[in-house]
Amino acid sequence: MYSYDDQNIFARILRGEIPNKTVLESAHTLAFEDIAPQAPVHVLVIPKGAYITFDHFAAEASEAEIVDFNRTVQAVIAQLSLGDGYRLISNAGQDGVQDVPHMHMHILAGRRLGRIVGEA
Ligand code: AMP
Repeated sequence: MYSYDDQNIFARILRGEIPNKTVLESAHTLAFEDIAPQAPVHVLVIPKGAYITFDHFAAEASEAEIVDFNRTVQAVIAQLSLGDGYRLISNAGQDGVQDVPHMHMHILAGRRLGRIVGEA
């Protein structure tokens, strides 16, 4: 059902083929700065495994990967002291306007964010 494209840009980052500004790395997860930040804080958190969307990850990742991913999101929030708040977004598929077909969670913070859903 899920067909992963291993040439996507986050797969290339994970293979070390292109650089990234790493915020945190753990056994199963990498967190790095978004190249085109939409807020003062804009970090992407990705599993190291080959998962396309959140639902793919939640369906097929091991419990260790799922726990590690969530704990890494928490660790980024703690490390960057986002006590004033943050937003998590995981775009999926065409209607979700997902550009990179490797599961990722955006962490946005550092200012009061706008409405959650914008124009198409
Ligand atoms: P999405 O539209 O949810 O798939 O978001 C993809 C995100 O990846 C966008 O916010 C891009 O700015 C970001 N992005 C694309 N290429 C890179 C890269 N090489 N390093 C860091 N972030 C990237």
